[in-house]
Amino acid sequence: MPERILVVEDEKTIAELIAEALKRRGYRVEAVHDGDGGLYAVETTLPDLVILDVMLPGMDGWEVCRRIRENPATKGIPVLMLTARRDERDLLAGFDVGADDYMKKPFSVNELAARVKSLLRRRSPGETDEKVIVIGPLAVDTEKGEALLKGSILDLTATEFLLLEVLASSRGSVVSRDTLLARVWGYSAADTRTVDMHVFRLRRKIEEDPENPKLLQTVRGRGFRLQEEGAADENS
Ligand code: CA
Repeated sequence: MPERILVVEDEKTIAELIAEALKRRGYRVEAVHDGDGGLYAVETTLPDLVILDVMLPGMDGWEVCRRIRENPATKGIPVLMLTARRDERDLLAGFDVGADDYMKKPFSVNELAARVKSLLRRRSPGETDEKVIVIGPLAVDTEKGEALLKGSILDLTATEFLLLEVLASSRGSVVSRDTLLARVWGYSAADTRTVDMHVFRLRRKIEEDPENPKLLQTVRGRGFRLQEEGAADENS
């Protein structure tokens, strides 16, 4: 059964571009071109994921997202928001209303497809419900709030643990610096260099050779990925 994705985007060329790219990857895609119709489609068809533009005729994307989250029947559906505006406060608002991820326009459809895949996998059973996430020699116990490397408890700060937990729960998928900032720091830090600094420190604790990381990898231009070296690149 292919996963069903709803695209809510009033710019029809963009909606078609997204729909075509996702259909090629095996998803079933429906597109709606205004906010009210989008919310109605979410509530009636219960898609597996929603791609939601912010600026829409009628109800805007923030409001649609807020209502998706308010409704017990739809609140678990992952929402990826598209924003044309560059203001970081928009991103903050996006996470405030409960968006799972966002992308700034213009974006690459390949990157969009990678985010979609990652969100769907994060949602699927056995991924998010895991209490202990094991990646090679690393075990992240999300319930106890501790991480072990080859069976020994790592001495991590709260921030380092949270960073590791977010990366581990997206195991094998790239997590962008902006997403890490929002999830780990909640935008209290405005600078993505904060992310790099903590990744650097985390590597010194979990990597045998921090200069040549085998677990916490940098994906140029996209972000970071936690996976065991040699595992298949699930994003390609
Ligand atoms: Ca729009």
